[in-house]
Amino acid sequence: MKVAFIGLGNMGGPMVRNLLKAGHDVAVHDLDAHAVSEAVKAGAAPALSPKVAVQGVDVVMTMLPAAQHVRTVLAADNGVFEGIARGITIIDSSTIDPASAKAFAGLAAERGVTFVDAPVSGGTGGAAAGTLTFMVGASAESYAHVKPVLSAMGKNIVHCGETGTGQVAKICNNLILGITMAGVAEAMSLGERLGIDPAVLAGIVNTSTGRCWSSEAYNPFPGLVDAAPSSRGYTGGFGTDLMLKDLGLASDAAKLARQPVFLGALAQQLYQAMSANGDGKLDFSAVIKLYRKD
Ligand code: NAD
Repeated sequence: MKVAFIGLGNMGGPMVRNLLKAGHDVAVHDLDAHAVSEAVKAGAAPALSPKVAVQGVDVVMTMLPAAQHVRTVLAADNGVFEGIARGITIIDSSTIDPASAKAFAGLAAERGVTFVDAPVSGGTGGAAAGTLTFMVGASAESYAHVKPVLSAMGKNIVHCGETGTGQVAKICNNLILGITMAGVAEAMSLGERLGIDPAVLAGIVNTSTGRCWSSEAYNPFPGLVDAAPSSRGYTGGFGTDLMLKDLGLASDAAKLARQPVFLGALAQQLYQAMSANGDGKLDFSAVIKLYRKD
């Protein structure tokens, strides 16, 4: 297939490499010239604007920080809507709010174009390995259409329901993640203060009822999990500011639905405090720094 890919950051860059490996032709665009040149080295064709990138392609993918960037790329001057042909599908894998996803689908439909939300989980490691989970909000027909191209970048391609439900799945998952990480950080710090060896505590938790992804694969206590950001100064991984953004999306969606998110609101304040302390670029597991002196 001919694919236009816009947004070549920590996630988009490796996703493009997997599309190329799978034999797709990829035209790329990003504001960051270095990101474009890296994709070109891997075999992609550069485009000066989203409008140019989407000309003559079968499918368009966007992987951008937030809804305002998606709006700009789609609808601003020289944007996707100026160059895209009728009948083409746009797959947005950015994490944005479900209401914006539905609004973009409406704008696309006015131009005879289909918009599908397909946010991901699996992080930068999953993007590089081609093992992402895609949560797809689309009609059954559009889901069948996009599944082959997403399969080049992910191993689980899940149809969540109609447009917007991919984003619902994503923000609910990250609501749990933000809360459990803060919970594990709190308990590990308390255990340390009360005198238990953190490695022993983590071992007990991971064979007991406190076990979760945050305690096992991504424990925030430094030095317990070799592959986790906590073992490399909280660099790489999933940035605190992105977690903060996702908790904000959950809180906004909850407000619209008049649904309480008590723990989500508290977790949001913890990550907000980290960001205010200048730790917004660190992996979100650095939330443990709020509890430990060093
Ligand atoms: P990133 O900030 O590394 O990359 C975003 C890219 O978009 C940058 O290269 C930037 O230059 C480009 N961009 C921004 N505005 C643009 C515009 N108007 N035109 C063209 N390019 C533009 O972000 P990321 O880590 O790749 O995350 C992308 C999305 O995926 C976010 O919504 C994030 O929440 C989500 N996500 C990230 C992770 C992760 O672990 N990093 C995991 C799951 C989901």
